[in-house]
Amino acid sequence: MSIASARRIMIALTEVGRARENILQRIEAAKLRRSAELPNIEPRLVAVSKTKPVNLIIDAFESGQTHFGENYVQELERKANDEELLKATKGQIKWHFIGHLQSNKCKKLAAIPNLDTVETVDSKKLADCLNKAWESAGKLEQLNIMVQVNTSQEENKSGCPPDDCVTIVDHVLKRCKKLNFVGLMTIGQLGRHDADSNPDFRLLSECRKTVSDKMGIPIDALELSMGMSQDFEHAIEMGSTSVRVGSAIFGSRP
Ligand SMILES: *Cc1c(COP(=O)(O)O)cnc(C)c1O
Repeated sequence: MSIASARRIMIALTEVGRARENILQRIEAAKLRRSAELPNIEPRLVAVSKTKPVNLIIDAFESGQTHFGENYVQELERKANDEELLKATKGQIKWHFIGHLQSNKCKKLAAIPNLDTVETVDSKKLADCLNKAWESAGKLEQLNIMVQVNTSQEENKSGCPPDDCVTIVDHVLKRCKKLNFVGLMTIGQLGRHDADSNPDFRLLSECRKTVSDKMGIPIDALELSMGMSQDFEHAIEMGSTSVRVGSAIFGSRP
């Protein structure tokens, strides 16, 4: 028995812990429905804690959660440096930045302890800026990044146009030595679903295929971050390797 599951038996689960267990079970079930042609990757749960207090993040951590997502640099900076949280989690949280990133915030973001992945790189300029900030911060390990694609092509959404993702990936691989390109991310238009599936998830999968072919990276070495509380099961059925779930774990937001 793993230490995590032993712990779960020893301590009564909090409401957040129970909600998380439910999501994990649904992730497992969705994984079994996935087509055999898709890479057999264990989907990761990123718990999106934006607007939620530190004590709920600690509840989730104590039930076994390590990957957390935040949208705002300021809020992430505050939480990642919170003394109570650092004490309870011993620096073991892996933070994912999943919000829109402005160039002038790269330095602030790079200074955040335990930053694991920035999922929202959508231009060469932003990649350069993050690369420089990571280098200046004197980090030894590379920073994981994903290229965000605006698959629904909505004007108010960030992300690069689908046709640009190969050029950005190529730039990161060749010019951004401090960045470790791990895959593609999309938010997509909520509730979009045609006859057989969500067109945003389909398009992101197609982008991954193109990146794989053009860059010579095996498909199973490329992550797909897609799916939120409303649609994470369908996203997994379509090959998502990382789902970002907020309200279904922490409750609704104002
Ligand atoms: C808020 C947010 C989520 C989580 O949304 P829920 O519907 O609460 O699960 C996921 N991804 C991004 C980019 C977000 O901003």
